Amino acid sequence: MTGTTTMKEGPAVLQCKGPCLDSSHTFLTAVDHCKCNKCNAVVCKLCSTTLTSEKTDKERYCLDCYLIENLLPDEGAGLNNDMTISEMRRELLVHYNFSGANILL
Ligand SMILES: [Zn+2]
Ligand SMILES: [Zn+2]
Repeated sequence: MTGTTTMKEGPAVLQCKGPCLDSSHTFLTAVDHCKCNKCNAVVCKLCSTTLTSEKTDKERYCLDCYLIENLLPDEGAGLNNDMTISEMRRELLVHYNFSGANILL
């Protein structure tokens, strides 16, 4: 009688939306994580950042939204052209020549 391995169900995991997704990043729901303030995506601490110097979790964004929020002027201020978010992102990547992953470094 061993009494081991009675846990059949795996722990609940979340999948991070951030750059680490390339390595199929999942983490336990119990692990510290946050939701993007803008798109509500689940991101781990590594893949999220804050816009302000105040490191409040309320101001956390995924890196995609961070790029947009940080580099683009106020949205809603007549940003009514045909550019989609992904197009804007590609523009940013071209102009600034960095990928989201670089932010981590
Ligand atoms: Zn986001
Ligand atoms: Zn992540």
